[in-house]
Amino acid sequence: MAEHVKVLIIGSGPAGYTAGIYASRASLNPVLYQGGEPGGQLTITNDVENFPGYPEGVNGPQMMMDLEKQAKRFGTDVRHGLATAVEFSQEGPHKVVVDENHEILADTVIISTGASAKWLGLESEDKFKYGGGVTACAVCDGFFYRGKDVVVVGAGDTACEEATYLSKICNKVYLLVRRDEMRASRIMQQRVLGTENIEVLWNTETEEILGESEVTGVRIRNNKTEEVKNLDIQGFFVAIGHKPNTDIFKGQLDMDENGYLITQAKSSKTNVPGVFASGDAQDHVYRQAVTAAGTGCMAALDAERYLAEKGLA
Ligand code: NDP
Repeated sequence: MAEHVKVLIIGSGPAGYTAGIYASRASLNPVLYQGGEPGGQLTITNDVENFPGYPEGVNGPQMMMDLEKQAKRFGTDVRHGLATAVEFSQEGPHKVVVDENHEILADTVIISTGASAKWLGLESEDKFKYGGGVTACAVCDGFFYRGKDVVVVGAGDTACEEATYLSKICNKVYLLVRRDEMRASRIMQQRVLGTENIEVLWNTETEEILGESEVTGVRIRNNKTEEVKNLDIQGFFVAIGHKPNTDIFKGQLDMDENGYLITQAKSSKTNVPGVFASGDAQDHVYRQAVTAAGTGCMAALDAERYLAEKGLA
């Protein structure tokens, strides 16, 4: 007999743990599977200084451990394991397979599988990632590069937004665009091109990020002229897009062309009753820990109401 639970939470970022806190306080005995990267994207950040309630900031991994502790305190059953397949139905219960062998039936499922930043794939990028000068989040880490020179790679709305954000903090921002045009919306491009301390380098690719223990420069190549040169910089921001971790829901849940789950207005409801989505798996616009936590709360409240309406709570 498969295990049967009222609330199954998939993912352990701020959204998942917040859903766990709310669902366990409502006596719904939620089970939470942590996924492949327990704690999510915040475990690969240094200091989180923009989460309300931490006037001195908080270390990302520490914050996730605290959230886990808080969810467990009220009875969330936090387990290691990766959801590898799902079978949702309009009437429920929903089938979720964990680690390809453990089958669970759930009256409600809260998806908080998050998103992952895309990287260039350079060895030097790995070497300096998280703390050494390479990052994928200007809002999280820009502050540490106050008054310094930095590079942003990318040419979409995210890259333009990051470059504009960093231009207010840093001395100089180089935006490396691999083609001779940007994909970003016109207004975002205009903002970038109109900012004095942003220099756009067209047709430019990254060859190597330079430095010993911290980033001190970058070797770039113009793919039209083949000219190679070094820039002295201290921060390297990769902004070439994110990929939501939603592959296992393809064909079962409505998602946009980039794989972000679609929720009904002002709720966490997906197109399948009893299946709710929260956090970055359904949000490509805000993508903050605090907004993820907010939507995790929404998902737990939506699940609670659904269970009550069905007489399952
Ligand atoms: P996009 O997929 O739109 O853009 C990614 C960019 O990165 C492209 O310009 C692409 O170049 C470039 N790129 C990809 N791989 C590489 C590589 N290996 N080397 C160099 N450059 C590379 O992602 P975004 O994150 O910018 O945006 C995702 C979605 O979110 C979009 O729909 C966007 O509109 C939306 N968004 C909206 C915002 C807002 O409205 N405020 C803010 C941020 C995002 P190329 O063009 O050559 O393929």
